[in-house]
Amino acid sequence: MADHDLDLVVIGAGSGGVRAARIAAGYGARVLIAEEYRVGGTCVIRGCVPKKLLVYASRFADEFEDAAGYGWTLQEPRFNWPTLIANKDREIARLELAYTTNLERAGVKLAKSRAILEDAHTVRLVATGETIRPRYILIATGAAPWFGPPIPGIEHVISSNEAFHLDELPARILIQGGGYIAVEFAAIFNGLGSEVTLVYRGENILRGFDDDLREHLKSEMTKLGVRIVCGKTVSAVQRTQRAFNAKLSDDSTVEVDKVMFAVGRWPNVAGFGLDEAGVRWAAGRGIAVDPLSQTSVPHIYAIGDVTNRVNLTPVAIREGHAFADTVFGGKPTAVDHIDVPTAVFSEPEVGTVGLTEAQACQRLAKVDVYKTSFRPLKMTLAARDMRAFFKLVVDGESGRVVGCHIVGPDAGEMIQLVGIAVKMKATKADLDAVIAVHPTSAEELVTMREKALSHRREAAE
Ligand SMILES: Cc1cc2nc3c(=O)[nH]c(=O)nc-3n(C[C@H](O)[C@H](O)[C@H](O)COP(=O)(O)OP(=O)(O)OC[C@H]3O[C@@H](n4cnc5c(N)ncnc54)[C@H](O)[C@@H]3O)c2cc1C
Repeated sequence: MADHDLDLVVIGAGSGGVRAARIAAGYGARVLIAEEYRVGGTCVIRGCVPKKLLVYASRFADEFEDAAGYGWTLQEPRFNWPTLIANKDREIARLELAYTTNLERAGVKLAKSRAILEDAHTVRLVATGETIRPRYILIATGAAPWFGPPIPGIEHVISSNEAFHLDELPARILIQGGGYIAVEFAAIFNGLGSEVTLVYRGENILRGFDDDLREHLKSEMTKLGVRIVCGKTVSAVQRTQRAFNAKLSDDSTVEVDKVMFAVGRWPNVAGFGLDEAGVRWAAGRGIAVDPLSQTSVPHIYAIGDVTNRVNLTPVAIREGHAFADTVFGGKPTAVDHIDVPTAVFSEPEVGTVGLTEAQACQRLAKVDVYKTSFRPLKMTLAARDMRAFFKLVVDGESGRVVGCHIVGPDAGEMIQLVGIAVKMKATKADLDAVIAVHPTSAEELVTMREKALSHRREAAE
């Protein structure tokens, strides 16, 4: 293809790449997007969307049980894994088609091929060998599961990618990891009836989240039957005649039918040609970019998980949009990565935004903490021993709510709205001025009156 026949080549048709391509094309740019696997990327094909469908499936078991307290008599419910997976796959195929159609409608050319950088100006489509020299290149190749340091038997271990396509539901599964993907899959398999052991090397799951939230979630998940083993790692996996033996760092052994690792993800750049193009790497992180997502090579940009900033779909989408506005829309736009609300679709669910109590104490002179734990109304007749947890972290000087942490049903839905208030710099007094919606769990957000704790940093001598 002749020089600059294209304004933009986007590499990777995931959350960020698709948005960037469509918006750039909308500004009149001639755009090609290359995808080596399936259009939609991690989120649509093997991330958020299929995961949430499995989460929904896993929650029915408790609903069936709880219905009895409300007068319902049900026949013994039966679950069929292949039906769930087939239905999930059908929905994912529909979404993939919708993404492809939207790209075509926007006038974006799609190349179903791996693409690599030959040099700073040349993109090669591996499937055809064709080379392209566009005006701009956007790297949006995302990230892939990382398995940690090699251990004997690692070839028997699956990642979240394979978990979506198992032939049958494992009766017993060991999941190593303490991040949100490990915790969510532990909840999914537990809800669907597997015996789940969650092994995490740190002292508690969900590192980086608020400590009270972590403690609360661990205790609730344990009540639901997930065996959580902290402070240990899997040192080897051995195949036996009918199962696997996972050996732990304390020499104990757990016999399971599947072993899954969710210990981290790593940017998709292997063999991609970053060095050939002179694109700089931020050590231990991802592709180095400035606030406008520009790399060390001025006409090459990078967005989403490959830059390892905040690895969430809405962030990748926002970065893709901002890139197109900046480069083709004449509106330089930096994405604000502060106070991004997020959910963990565990059971019970987690929603969080802003600073943890520990972070607030490091940054602020005065911190007030409001928290409560209670049994949601629905759990009373269901006779289920499940407690929700709400916490507000407040700047003791300005009164601003700087963090909110929720564990309980619909926490993800709630935190989206709390996120608006936090972004608008709402104070505790603003929340208190709102009249409660009763009876809900969310009303706790506007009815917590008593400070649970006040931290005051001593003035320097
Ligand atoms: C199990 C799981 C659950 C998740 N759940 C959530 C959630 O609930 N909420 C949330 O916000 N986020 C979630 N995420 C994270 C979210 O999926 C990612 O943050 C998001 O997809 C990142 O978008 P991206 O555009 O950077 O990359 P991706 O969506 O990963 O897209 C990158 C694309 O590039 C392609 N590609 C890679 N290299 C090349 C190449 N050389 N040539 C051509 N194509 C290439 C890949 O095949 C892929 O399609 C989850 C992730 C996982 C794994």
